[in-house]
Amino acid sequence: MGSGRIRHKAKRGRMKRPVQEKIIVGKTKLQRFLRHNVPKKRAFGQRLTICFRCGGTRRHISKYNLNICGRCFREVAKELGFKKLR
Ligand SMILES: [Zn+2]
Repeated sequence: MGSGRIRHKAKRGRMKRPVQEKIIVGKTKLQRFLRHNVPKKRAFGQRLTICFRCGGTRRHISKYNLNICGRCFREVAKELGFKKLR
């Protein structure tokens, strides 16, 4: 039982992936897919607070009308005039 697993692991390096065939999607099918997967328009929510620098939605800082994410803030804080006290 156990030996079978080990053999499988050793085989993995040599084994080649089967060539995937290109999936041809019809024009109407693609359009239908896009039509049904449009992001919902929202009145409020996390997705509306977007970082104008990178487009991220997490760690958003809106204080002092910064409107950037926390990661971008770390990069540009010195240029904006913020000082690290301590
Ligand atoms: Zn950002």
